[in-house]
Amino acid sequence: MDNNKIHIILFGPPGSGKGTQAQKLVNHYGLYHISTGDLFRSETSQKTELGLKALEFMAKGQLVPDDVTIDMLRKKVASEPNAQGFIYDGFPRTTAQADALDRMLQTSGDKISCLIALDVSDDEIVKRILLRGQSSGRPDDSDESIIRKRMEEYRNKTSEVFDYYNRKGLSFQVSGLGSIEDIYTRLTGCIDEVIC
Ligand code: AMP
Repeated sequence: MDNNKIHIILFGPPGSGKGTQAQKLVNHYGLYHISTGDLFRSETSQKTELGLKALEFMAKGQLVPDDVTIDMLRKKVASEPNAQGFIYDGFPRTTAQADALDRMLQTSGDKISCLIALDVSDDEIVKRILLRGQSSGRPDDSDESIIRKRMEEYRNKTSEVFDYYNRKGLSFQVSGLGSIEDIYTRLTGCIDEVIC
């Protein structure tokens, strides 16, 4: 991997709009989008060993263990040596994952450019995910108890990743409410500040 690539973490609870915004951002900045949720879903639909292992946790709204997730992420990044940079969506979700990512980037002289959190209330999250579940075909989007479990995992294990990068002066927070364009403008405002 070359030095000085852009590495942006798009952060926020499930249903906060990370996937939608990541798609727009990759087009604009020419970055490679890595969604660990999408990678796991691809593995589960192909019924690979990794996919079947991940499914045990995803079906309950729990996080997949760190070692499995980190290994998958590492392989994905290594498979894109020519990328100008990456947008991480749904990763890191624990401080152990953040540590592993930082160490991985360090070996090539890179570092996280910034983390941007989309701020959305719990009630809005449940509403959005149930709506998405009507068309996404994702079982974890259609059952309110699984959605609540995913939110609990976010609160208990993931939210501290914001503080982890905040201590390094790299965390931003923007409102995840409003139109897709409005949110996008807030995100590009943060990114342009960091990369210019
Ligand atoms: P997502 O599509 O990002 O909401 O992820 C769907 C599910 O995949 C999560 O509820 C977890 O079970 C699993 N998952 C995705 N990313 C991670 C991660 N970084 N660490 C652990 N589990 C993950």
